[in-house]
Amino acid sequence: MNHRPRKRFGQHFLHDPGSIQHILTSVAPQPGQKLVEIGPGQGAISEGLLRATGALDVIELDRDLVAPLAKRLGRLGDLRIHNADALRFDLCALADSSIAECNRLRIVGNLPYNISTPLLFRFLDQAECIDDLHLMLQKEVVERICADPGSKTYGRLSVMVQTRCSTQRLFVIRPGAFNPPPKVDSAMLRLIPHRPTPCPVDDAALHARIVTAAFAQRRKSLRNSLKGLVQASLLIERGIDPAARAEMIPVHTYADLANALHANQEVGSQGDCLS
Ligand code: SAH
Repeated sequence: MNHRPRKRFGQHFLHDPGSIQHILTSVAPQPGQKLVEIGPGQGAISEGLLRATGALDVIELDRDLVAPLAKRLGRLGDLRIHNADALRFDLCALADSSIAECNRLRIVGNLPYNISTPLLFRFLDQAECIDDLHLMLQKEVVERICADPGSKTYGRLSVMVQTRCSTQRLFVIRPGAFNPPPKVDSAMLRLIPHRPTPCPVDDAALHARIVTAAFAQRRKSLRNSLKGLVQASLLIERGIDPAARAEMIPVHTYADLANALHANQEVGSQGDCLS
């Protein structure tokens, strides 16, 4: 393929066979599963996915990659190329409408790092039709996503992702495995949406506001960072020390707090979270 990697599309193409195999082994695609790859590029990972399953949906923004992809991989199986922006793409439309277990999607992607956070939130919004996700991201971002309370990297991203999914850091890939090499280390992340969710959130927007405010000034006490949003008396009622910092609060406690605030705002609805 004579395609020059484009910076504006965040293109870093995997060329190291060992890394490609490592990714395929961790995804372990099986015939009949519905796999969707985000940003297939020149098809480094797509080829193995398509060979294993016989069918693959790929979402690629760069129009110039569509014809070469079809030419290279079309013979291997039913390759459906969607020339689209993954940030706007309706993934659930690819799953069958009933969303029975066998119809859910498996998402794979070596993502453009400049849009990885909005893409992650987009996936979380569509988690009901996703079985699992295997994503290559900047190593630091993977560490933030998987962090436990009390650690320096525990923050908004950890809470928002862990509320919806179990998280697992799989392995690191060095810059030299890509062309051109990125400036940072990469890591493979596995996300499995909780089913059922141990601690459902009644009002996702309110939960997101609380978590964002709590970590916006992570050195402040919660009493201060949540001022105007949550009263100290409600923090105490939910067993949270108002002098504590955001990084000490477990994931399920944020859900519980958001549900309690939601219940207070909506007289009659009860948002108790046990976990
Ligand atoms: N998976 C390939 C390519 C990774 S580079 C490999 O491992 O070699 C990232 C890819 O995502 C590029 O092909 C880029 O064109 C594509 N891309 C960038 N922004 C995108 C978006 N918003 N939606 C879909 N694809 C995108």
